Amino acid sequence: MSGKIFVVGTGPGYKEYICPKAIEAMEISDVIVGYKTYIEIVKPFVQNNNFISSGMMKEVERCREVLQLAESGKTVSIISSGDPGIYGMAGIMLEVVSAHNSTVPVEIIPGISAASSAASLLGAPLMNDFVVLSLSDLLTPWELIEKRLHAAGSGDFAVCIYNPRSKTRITQLDNAIEIFLKYKQPNTPVGIVKHAMRQQQEVTLTTLAQLNNHDIDMFTTLIVGNSKTEIINGKMVTVRGYTV
Ligand code: SAH
Repeated sequence: MSGKIFVVGTGPGYKEYICPKAIEAMEISDVIVGYKTYIEIVKPFVQNNNFISSGMMKEVERCREVLQLAESGKTVSIISSGDPGIYGMAGIMLEVVSAHNSTVPVEIIPGISAASSAASLLGAPLMNDFVVLSLSDLLTPWELIEKRLHAAGSGDFAVCIYNPRSKTRITQLDNAIEIFLKYKQPNTPVGIVKHAMRQQQEVTLTTLAQLNNHDIDMFTTLIVGNSKTEIINGKMVTVRGYTV
């Protein structure tokens, strides 16, 4: 008899920002599998201690392990921060299940993604059309990311940037800023949100021209405004055109 796989979005951090269905899935699971940092975050608020933690770069192995456990009859949760369907584990889990011709059911439980949590802390910067881009070129060629940066810039979208910089990916953000400056004003508001809804949370407002003077790491999400983004009472707001 085969078990079941839940791909669970754990939200940005604090328990209040995880949906009840995600907690329920983790609590009815025989095992909860995930990257160790995220396990540490959810451990305190889940009544289940059967955690298996794994390293960051081991995504495929992690999914194979989850499938094996489910094939042996276990109910398994594999956790992903934010929303598992946004740069998370949902896609790869479905691919691994299919590659093994498995019929184990997979249920994906959404979560609050960094775009939403960061936007809420900044104000309302995503009120109109926006684009989400990851600057990680580990799996996507940089040329394609550059093409998308140009498209986002020329389309006057607000842009939410995931994976802006890591210890080894330093220059990508510099290149992105250079591309945006071809289309956007230097004083375009930019919000920097680090560790949204976690104890170390930091929220900073700056401009496109000043962005590089700030410390930006892999726990940071950036939101770059469009031509209608303003600072209103200290909040970043993309004005939609209402007469108020
Ligand atoms: N599935 C996740 C994204 C994983 S990609 C989600 O939906 O949120 C990892 C990137 O997400 C990080 O480099 C950072 O840009 C962003 N991120 C994830 N959690 C965050 C948080 N609590 N605060 C700020 N950025 C976060």
